[in-house]
Amino acid sequence: MTYIVTESCIRCKYMDCVEVCPVDCFYEGENMLVIHPDECIDCGVCEPECPPEAILPDSDTEAEKWLELNREYSETWPNITRKGDAPADADEFKDQSGKFEKFFSAAPGNTDG
Ligand code: SF4
Ligand code: SF4
Repeated sequence: MTYIVTESCIRCKYMDCVEVCPVDCFYEGENMLVIHPDECIDCGVCEPECPPEAILPDSDTEAEKWLELNREYSETWPNITRKGDAPADADEFKDQSGKFEKFFSAAPGNTDG
């Protein structure tokens, strides 16, 4: 089991999740984060910390389609261990749907670098 990040994270990046993860298993893209499924210890503390409720356990039916994305990009994006600055317009995108099609970027992020 693992927790994963869904498209609800895209363009939010509040990063409250990063602060609480005991094993630093979040990885940063240009406009969203993912969890490394093999590093997550399934503690669940990040889930209630996420304002747009982007984090789900992989037992959730919604989670299935995001698991591979989390696996794929956690192998290539940089690890993130510190909370960065959320984008100024993050709240505007918090409740939007279909964000993957509209905004997903495969480019890596660089908050820690
Ligand atoms: S708190 Fe939620 S929306 Fe924010 S970066 Fe973490 S997973 Fe993404
Ligand atoms: S469930 Fe725990 S180990 Fe997994 S990403 Fe969230 S805080 Fe980290």
